[in-house]
Amino acid sequence: MDPHRAVDAGEWVVVTHAHADHTARHKAVILTEPTRRLMRSRLPGSRIEQVLAYSEAWSGDGRTLPGLSPSFALTLHPAGHVLGSAMVHLSAGDDSLLYTGDFKLRPGRSSERCQPVHARTLIMETTYGRPRYEFPPTETVIESILQFCRQTLSEGLTPVLIGYSLGKSQEILASLTEADLPIQLHPSAARLTEIYSEFGCRFPAWKPLDVESARGHVIITPTLRPLVAAQPRIGPLRVASLSGWALDHRPRTDTAGQQRFPLSDHADFPDLMRFVEAVKPERVYTLHGFAAEFARHLRRRGVQAYALSQNDQLELSLGI
Ligand SMILES: [Zn+2]
Repeated sequence: MDPHRAVDAGEWVVVTHAHADHTARHKAVILTEPTRRLMRSRLPGSRIEQVLAYSEAWSGDGRTLPGLSPSFALTLHPAGHVLGSAMVHLSAGDDSLLYTGDFKLRPGRSSERCQPVHARTLIMETTYGRPRYEFPPTETVIESILQFCRQTLSEGLTPVLIGYSLGKSQEILASLTEADLPIQLHPSAARLTEIYSEFGCRFPAWKPLDVESARGHVIITPTLRPLVAAQPRIGPLRVASLSGWALDHRPRTDTAGQQRFPLSDHADFPDLMRFVEAVKPERVYTLHGFAAEFARHLRRRGVQAYALSQNDQLELSLGI
């Protein structure tokens, strides 16, 4: 599941979603249809693709998979992270495992809603696995982003929203649907947004980024590079970045005047906890971000938990 290095023919790889740190040039992949389309756009080339709908059971291609009994079932479930993102559920006999990939519980406007399922063993991402990461309500964050855009335009400046081309760009674009603002999208975000539209995701009108006419538009882009070179033509910019890490910065404006809004496609700490309660696992393995710290919080609540991506410092109970 999600190996970083390309896996040769003869082994299946589950790709949970199309972000670059979860994909590689594997020879045979199991994925959802949206992930297939997004992955093809970002990583062209030929590969064997086993497409699964959410909840559709797959029991292999007749070959025994290493470490799995011949009678296993693999299903994908919505992870709520980006369009097509999936959690992987494996069951064999009465044993079961759930691997989350990246996920979030808060409903998004451009991704399916996360659906936790029970498993005896849970492997979960814990990017924001520290109590200080509690995101404000999404509607509040969106409202501040809208205010930022309107205020900037009313001062004759051009607002620039920086976020990943896959997922973040579409989420903020969808959130501007009722705002009636002129919008331009960086080409990498534009290409992926077209794929989102083919899957029924609704967006306001937008145009591809054109530095000659960009002045007076809200620009959504993963990078400032094309804008900096063309700044004499676009005029003064006011920049905001969209990331959960905005919570690390108070006030949320850096020395260059860049604003930060905590819009994230990952679960925050309370949602990570809620997720574990929903899955009701017997043991949990944590990955990414504050993996050891989150495992410690779980153990304090009586859940057997270990970090996979960091060293655990297990507490020694003295029984007093
Ligand atoms: Zn991701």
